[in-house]
Amino acid sequence: MRWTERQRAMLAEMGLRVWDEPATQEPAFASVAAEVRPSSRSSEVPITAAPPADVAAQPASAAAPNAVAAMEWPALREAVSACTACSLHQGRRQTVFGVGHPRAHWMIVGEAPGEEEDRCGEPFVGRSGQLLDNMLRAIGLSRQAAEAPDPSKQVFIANTLKCRPPGNRNPLPEELAACEGFLIRQIELVQPKIILAMGRFAVQSLLRSTAPIGQLRGRVHHYQGVPLVVTYHPAYLLRNLPEKARAWDDLCLALDTVEAAAARASGGA
Ligand code: URA
Repeated sequence: MRWTERQRAMLAEMGLRVWDEPATQEPAFASVAAEVRPSSRSSEVPITAAPPADVAAQPASAAAPNAVAAMEWPALREAVSACTACSLHQGRRQTVFGVGHPRAHWMIVGEAPGEEEDRCGEPFVGRSGQLLDNMLRAIGLSRQAAEAPDPSKQVFIANTLKCRPPGNRNPLPEELAACEGFLIRQIELVQPKIILAMGRFAVQSLLRSTAPIGQLRGRVHHYQGVPLVVTYHPAYLLRNLPEKARAWDDLCLALDTVEAAAARASGGA
């Protein structure tokens, strides 16, 4: 298989060199020449019947369990910025609510704000954010409403935690529990067509699974009926560059899933 222009653009945005099979002969040094190989972008996306997480049984928020579940965007934003449900509020400069189109077709769920996000109030503004933006741009997606007014080309980016853990340590179970009502409500309001869960804490929150990312990626899960694709966290990709090729496959899987659902909805497949 040869790379399409779209695939080439996507890989270039992700900082990957492409490898093309010579048309006439076997590649003599394929393994050393290849950084990534063309993905098999099958239109037959494997769908797993992972049971939806039983989020309804979870407390909506340690601060206001029932109220959060009924909030619209302005109230939800206010509730997040006033939240003192866990000790993280003591060290934050500000909360990091999330960013993007309120009805974006794509929802990206990360882990927690880092230092730069804590300073700016927006998720993924550091180096991993640049990588994320490049990856999204490669498939025509943007977090900036002005760049892509069509919601099918837009993402809403949120984290499992809205406050920065000190020293960027991992989220604690009680922090995830206290904050998850906010994420649940954000997903309900956005009603995305696809969720990309990046990294193990997003996966733990949404799928209730502690399995490694490597075991969960490569197939479509579901969260409350919404297709969900698991992928590596951009910060992990920055430390493990060869894994970018797998992240590319994950993006392709998510894209195929959305496109297949759209085709079915319009009676085309
Ligand atoms: N990593 C995340 O998971 N989220 C951010 O907002 C920034 C870095």
